[in-house]
Amino acid sequence: MQTTQQVTETKYLTEFYHLPEFQGIEGYKKHGGYKELEKALKMQPQAIIDEVKASGLRGRGGAGFSTGMKWGFLPKNDEPRYLLCNADEGEPGTFKDRMMMERAPHQLIEGMIISGFAINSKKSYIYVRGEYDKSINSLLNAIQEAYKAGYLGKNILGSGFDHDMDVYRGAGAYICGEETGMISSLEGLKGQPKLKPPFPAVQGYLKKPTIVNNVETLAVVKYVIRDGAAHYRTFGTEKSAGTKLFSLSGNVVKPGNYEVPLAYPLKDMIFGLGGGMKAGKNLKAVIPGGSSAPVLTAEEAGRATLDYECLAQMGTMLGSGAIIVIDDSNCMVQCLANLTHFYHHESCGQCTPCREGTGWLDKIVHSILAGKGRMQDIELLLKVADNMKGKTICALSDAAALPVLSFVTKFRDEFEYFVREGKSKVKGTAFKGAP
Ligand code: NAD
Ligand code: SF4
Repeated sequence: MQTTQQVTETKYLTEFYHLPEFQGIEGYKKHGGYKELEKALKMQPQAIIDEVKASGLRGRGGAGFSTGMKWGFLPKNDEPRYLLCNADEGEPGTFKDRMMMERAPHQLIEGMIISGFAINSKKSYIYVRGEYDKSINSLLNAIQEAYKAGYLGKNILGSGFDHDMDVYRGAGAYICGEETGMISSLEGLKGQPKLKPPFPAVQGYLKKPTIVNNVETLAVVKYVIRDGAAHYRTFGTEKSAGTKLFSLSGNVVKPGNYEVPLAYPLKDMIFGLGGGMKAGKNLKAVIPGGSSAPVLTAEEAGRATLDYECLAQMGTMLGSGAIIVIDDSNCMVQCLANLTHFYHHESCGQCTPCREGTGWLDKIVHSILAGKGRMQDIELLLKVADNMKGKTICALSDAAALPVLSFVTKFRDEFEYFVREGKSKVKGTAFKGAP
């Protein structure tokens, strides 16, 4: 497979990420930091919401919901409301928010203060994945700097607007990345999702209206204010506007985070920016949007572009932008076993189809791996997965079912071979997954 164009990143959000000084407030200000906060505080809050709406910005955490529209769901009154930054980043293969928090904490903080002003929120929290020590320290330090400089606290820059910000450390549960689970966790309750509606924008943290946005989404707000919605729309497509950070991992020569405009060809990401496969290896499959996104074959990956519409048309999704590349030295049964183990472990257990279904999927895949599989187990996998979709409180059940359906459907020969022969079709592979 060849790349189609000269491959370069579009460093819009990440322009100064290579500079260590960008982490501190002085270095950040040297490169334009907090200028947009000054500008925003002189605007009407509704004008900021309108600009964000016009930019076409969609949630960068995975769901791709219109950010401006979400803000527009807040009640139009003076009731206290909260801004909650989702920095839990638990989706396997996703590590872009970590880089943003470590290398550019003030970019997020500035985006959050502007967003807080727009939605009239006086208090925000950044809920950070518990394992992200470096991100937490970087944010705590930057928040302290922002308070000292008068960008947080009372009467910010003489505008009359007050805003306080705190960091909350998660405890390593994937499900606390789901917004209602996160809100419960922040309230000191068990981190379990709740049925929606009511959506958090109407009733969230402490039963007050709450906007939950991802790290990257909130960082973008500053740039929409700086350059305007029309400029932001020069990147990407009509429905998938802007640039996006993609976390590229798996069997590529140069894994890492890459910023490109949406609708960038997936093959250019893998073979251009990612440096392609290691010598002697061929592309076999790609998970394009975090582990819950249905897998693409190499042929499909060659046709895909990285935008919400193209990937949805191909039966998968852009999700959090985590691209996991699988070469032909991997066994798809073993790859799936890693995923089924993960979802079984992370199901919170409230809903029967999810609690039982994730367990069954994991058991069946592992029995195939142990050489004890029966041909009917392949159909059983499809049936169990099918029954887990659209019936539960949150999206985890669907997220667990979708990879199973796509792996088994697209790589059925590998599952059948494993059942028939009691070993992998891919020579030299041994089970390396979870027990
Ligand atoms: P969702 O589609 O239910 O909601 C998206 C957002 O829009 C939510 O904030 C929701 O409150 C809001 N919303 C939707 N309709 C609304 C309405 N009528 N009124 C008010 N608000 C409304 O999706 P979700 O369950 O929040 O997220 C699922 C996605 O999360 C998956 O696609 C997955 O890719 C992603 N994910 C990401 C990570 C990560 O680490 N980044 C981890 C797990 C899952
Ligand atoms: Fe918990 Fe799964 Fe139900 Fe989500 S779908 S609430 S993770 S049991």
